Amino acid sequence: MIHTIFDPDILNRIHWLIERADNIVITCHKSPDGDAIGSSLALCHVLRKLGKNASVVVPDMVPRTLHFLPMMRDVTVYSKAEPRAKRIVGEAQLIFCLDFNSMSRIDKLGALIAESQAPRVLIDHHLDPNSTAFAQMLSFPEASSTCELVYRFLCESGFGRYIDRIAAECIYVGIMTDTGNFTYSSSNPELYEIVANLMSYGIDKEQLYKLAMNTFSADSVRLQGYALSEKMQIFADKGMALITLTKDELARFHYRKGDTEGLVNKPLAIPEVNRVIFMREDAECIKVSCRSQGEYSVNEICQRHFNGGGHRNAAGGDFYGSMEEALTVFFSILSQLDNEQTETNQ
Ligand code: 5GP
Ligand code: MN
Repeated sequence: MIHTIFDPDILNRIHWLIERADNIVITCHKSPDGDAIGSSLALCHVLRKLGKNASVVVPDMVPRTLHFLPMMRDVTVYSKAEPRAKRIVGEAQLIFCLDFNSMSRIDKLGALIAESQAPRVLIDHHLDPNSTAFAQMLSFPEASSTCELVYRFLCESGFGRYIDRIAAECIYVGIMTDTGNFTYSSSNPELYEIVANLMSYGIDKEQLYKLAMNTFSADSVRLQGYALSEKMQIFADKGMALITLTKDELARFHYRKGDTEGLVNKPLAIPEVNRVIFMREDAECIKVSCRSQGEYSVNEICQRHFNGGGHRNAAGGDFYGSMEEALTVFFSILSQLDNEQTETNQ
C-alpha cells in the first residue's frame, strides 16, 4: 500500500495556487539530470492536461543523453534563450522549483525567478532546504527522487488520473537515474509499488534504461576508461578514491557535457573504497562530484569545501581555483579522515 506522506493543508494551499494560475513555470537545478528534467516534464505535462499554460525553464543545457525524453523540444534553456526565458518567467503566476533546495542552484536564472512576484512551490529531496525562498514546500530528503515526490504529489492532490504514458516515462526515468537503476536510495518497498503503477501505463523500462543510463559516445567510453585506468588513485587505508580530469585531458577525448556521467560511482565497486571524490576542470571552476557508502556524509564535505551540497551519499559542488589548489583541499580532507579514525580508535 502506498501511504500518503504530505500535509493535507499544504496540498490544499498548492491546489489553490494552481487553480488561480494560468501561466505556470517549472524549473530545476543547473546541469539538469534525469530526476530534475524528468520531474519537471512530468509535472508540466499534467498541468497542461489540466488546461494550464505550463512551461519548463532550465538554467542550462540538458545533456544529450536525456534529449529522448518527451516534450524536450518545448524546454526553454535560459543560457541559450535568455529573452524567451525572461518573458516566460515574467508572465508566470506560479513557479514550481523541482529537485533543488536553494536559489543558488539555478545560477543566473535564480535572480530572474527571485524578481518574480509569483509564489514559489518547492518539491525536492535534498537536505537543508532554504525555507525562506518558498511559499510552500514539499521537502522529503528521505525520498528516492523528486520524481517519486511528483508522482505522490499528483496522486495525493487528486491529479493522478491525468498521469499517462508520457508522464509515467518521465517519472520513471528520474526514479531510475537517481537510484542508479535501483541500486541505492531505493529501499522503501512503496517505491516498487509506484514503479508497478508506472509500468501499468505501458512504459518500456529496458529501453528507458538503455537510453537514459547506457548510451555513451565512443569518445566518452574511452574517456571513462582512461580516467579509471590512468587517473584513479586509491587510498585504501582511508577507504578513499580520487579521480581528476584536466581541461586538456577532456579535450583529448572531445568531451561533451554528460560524458563523465556515472564515472564517480565506478570506484565504489572496489571493496576497499567507500568514498570517492571526482574533480573535473570546467570552464570557470573545478566541478566536484562525491559519493560515499554508509554514514560518511559527502554532503558536509561539499558544503564545507566546495560551495555545494546534495545528499549524504551523493553530493557535488564547485571549487574556484586551480586543480593544484583543489588537490590541496582533497589532501586536507584525507588527513582529516586520519584524525577521525584516530579519534574513533582512542
Ligand atoms: P552529481 O555528482 O551527480 O553531479 O550530483 C550528485 C548530487 O549532488 C545531486 O543530488 C546534485 O543535486 C548535488 N549537487 C551536484 N552539484 C552540486 C552543486 O554544485 N551544489 C549543490 N548544492 N549540490 C550539488
Ligand atoms: Mn534528484
